[in-house]
Amino acid sequence: MDFTLPPDDDPRRVEVRAWLADHPEPTRKDLAEGGFVAPHWPRPWGRDADPETQLVIDDEFRAAGLRLPGASIGVGWAGPTILAGGTEEQKARFLPPMLDDTEGWCQLFSEPEAGSDLASLRTRAVRDGDVYVVNGSKIWSTRADVTDWGILLARTADEGPPQKCISYFLLDMATPGIEVRPIIEMTGGRHFNETFLTEVRIPAGNMVGTENEGWRLAKVTLANERVSLSEGGVLWGRGPADPAVLDRLRSFACSDPVLRQRIADLYTEMVILRLLNRRIMSAKVTGGDPGPLSSVRKAIGDKHGQKAMALVKDLEGPSTMLDGNYPYEEHEDPWAWGHYFSRALTIGGGTSEVQRNIIGERLLGLPREPRP
Ligand SMILES: Cc1cc2nc3c(=O)[nH]c(=O)nc-3n(C[C@H](O)[C@H](O)[C@H](O)COP(=O)(O)OP(=O)(O)OC[C@H]3O[C@@H](n4cnc5c(N)ncnc54)[C@H](O)[C@@H]3O)c2cc1C
Repeated sequence: MDFTLPPDDDPRRVEVRAWLADHPEPTRKDLAEGGFVAPHWPRPWGRDADPETQLVIDDEFRAAGLRLPGASIGVGWAGPTILAGGTEEQKARFLPPMLDDTEGWCQLFSEPEAGSDLASLRTRAVRDGDVYVVNGSKIWSTRADVTDWGILLARTADEGPPQKCISYFLLDMATPGIEVRPIIEMTGGRHFNETFLTEVRIPAGNMVGTENEGWRLAKVTLANERVSLSEGGVLWGRGPADPAVLDRLRSFACSDPVLRQRIADLYTEMVILRLLNRRIMSAKVTGGDPGPLSSVRKAIGDKHGQKAMALVKDLEGPSTMLDGNYPYEEHEDPWAWGHYFSRALTIGGGTSEVQRNIIGERLLGLPREPRP
């Protein structure tokens, strides 16, 4: 890292420490009201924290034995979009229950024929007076069966480039016409769903931004990533973290030279990923733009999670895989769950091939892939 964290008497540290002294065991509501759930958001929702201040906050919370909540679809995606393009009424209505987690959110973007090529989505919203009438279907909608609101992309025009024909809606998941069917995963869990929308009426006031501005807003959202010292688990921040993976690998006292080589490769990758994270953090703290380095991190990190889980499983043998059902919440063994879940890493949030396209074009200066 080409920066050091501010000293102990930095006023920002003093302020956070004073807050923690007043809230030694903060509830989610306390954290939301203190602006600590999304410190990088503007006040009054966050604390207007620049990247360095975010690291200071992280550091003080860690010193107090506390962790800030991780990003959810609401705080990670919907909130930044509402901040970027929403009206003051939308901010006041949606942000507080999102921050204190009294309303949960899902993301209704992907469709059976539109994943990596999201702009080709077919779900259609047609204006009818002061509502939009939506018809179509979405897929892989994480937690759509249990959440209160969804961020929805739908086509509102046909002329011109597809990216200029998409609008961004906030959808009350209790609206008539929505049918959510769970998809059973290979882990045995059912965290994502198919979502069918038939004559669903969304008030025009629930559009974020203006008609056909949805693509721009969806991209704005992605740029709004919190800077954090915490590196989390190897499965998108969930599951076991690198030190736990190493402990687990050590517990097998492996003498097979091929497996030992795989362990050495995995360890090397852990170091590379840690350094890459620091480079990205440094760029942000010093006001630079990490640009496509996040794609490098995702391309390596997703494979890394898969390799870690496969290696543990190869050393452990099949015994823990024989009882068949591994939804994380219910299963005591995060390794069996992680082994199955890790397949999703190189697909969700932009597949590894798509990340490689970004790295090739934006980092290595290779020619753009042919467009249809
Ligand atoms: C765990 C998980 C949670 C998810 N949660 C949500 C959610 O909450 N809401 C939501 O809307 N979506 C969600 N998704 C869906 C996810 O965004 C899509 O799966 C992803 O965008 C890929 O789209 P696809 O599955 O349609 O695959 P496709 O885009 O059809 O890709 C199929 C294959 O073709 C390759 N490919 C595609 N385009 C190119 C290209 N240009 N160059 C090279 N190769 C290419 C891909 O890499 C892949 O191997 C989730 C996915 C996962 C795994």
